[in-house]
Amino acid sequence: MTFNPVLDGLKNYEAGKPIELVVREYGISPSDVIKLASNENPRGCSPRVLAAIQQESTRAHLYPDDSMYELKEGLASRFGVGKENVIVGAGSDQVIGFALHAKANPNQGILMAGVTFAMYEIYGKQTGATIFKTPSKMHNLNEFRALLATHKGAIGVLFLCLPNNPLGEGIDTEEIKTFLREVDPNILVVVDGAYQEYAAFKDPAKAINPKAFIEEFPNVLYLGTFSKAYGLGGMRCGYGIGEAGLIHTLHKLRPPFNITTLSLKAAIEALKDEAFVTHCMEENFREMKRYEAEAKALGFDFIESYTNFITLAFSEGKSASTIAQSLLEKGIIIRDLSAYGMNAVRVTIGTPEQNSRFFEIFKRAYC
Ligand SMILES: *Cc1c(COP(=O)(O)O)cnc(C)c1O
Repeated sequence: MTFNPVLDGLKNYEAGKPIELVVREYGISPSDVIKLASNENPRGCSPRVLAAIQQESTRAHLYPDDSMYELKEGLASRFGVGKENVIVGAGSDQVIGFALHAKANPNQGILMAGVTFAMYEIYGKQTGATIFKTPSKMHNLNEFRALLATHKGAIGVLFLCLPNNPLGEGIDTEEIKTFLREVDPNILVVVDGAYQEYAAFKDPAKAINPKAFIEEFPNVLYLGTFSKAYGLGGMRCGYGIGEAGLIHTLHKLRPPFNITTLSLKAAIEALKDEAFVTHCMEENFREMKRYEAEAKALGFDFIESYTNFITLAFSEGKSASTIAQSLLEKGIIIRDLSAYGMNAVRVTIGTPEQNSRFFEIFKRAYC
């Protein structure tokens, strides 16, 4: 059988290794496995959300409210926008897919940073579009400018991952705004704010206000997710915020009932417990300092991070792949970034206990 040729060059997304795999392959008991590979919230979600999910489970036979009225209302009031400015997806991943399928095609390519969220390229290639990446791995706005000038008219979608995954760097919002004022308004600019709660907590200069953005830039689609700060990765719920006409168009691509009855409830409740999120932010950055101190003590580099993970970069004598593999065999799952041409690993900041265990095992693997 022959398939759509755009699929030929497409790789599958390689997710962080699941706990189940380590249990199966290395015979480690599930309670001893520490997963620091997918930027999940190590503290789980708000207890209030857990209770709501349990209660809602008796309604599992019912389709969710497809209008997502209450969730859209919650998001609209949280961000000071209208319900018509909000679209909900099964993870913000799904909204990335909507955006790309709405705009990209073989004549309208996609521009992104050298090393950024892998799904931009994967969904992008499904549309047959050409992928353009900046030479620098981290976001460099002048390189974006240069590529926009060189490929004038040939770029339909531009991704800014703020702060960036998997490297963790952030950019000041004023610099982003200056850049956006120069971008052709016919280009859809996706501002992925998956880690915005973290960035805003650490450095207000890097906080993005979606309302201000979409008012000044009707070509911006802002993305947020419940998977990281809110601790609901398993619930698969994210959202897009944009100008009403743009959101209306994206809705044409949305499958019916695209999030579950339980995820809908979880997300609605999560928005009501901001204190939980603040608490997680405090602990995240307190624990991140321990990673920075450890890197300095052992003499390797790290990238200053505005997220819930940190990228550790090793010198030539040490191999990121070997280190990641030897940690895996001890039940600690981290992300090897060798596939991105970097001798580095990405580690999600865990609970204080998980991090202590990580340092202990890591030092044995590294030294
Ligand atoms: C985790 C993540 C997402 C989306 O995750 P979902 O679970 O699909 O909401 C989007 N962008 C980036 C950069 C991420 O790291």
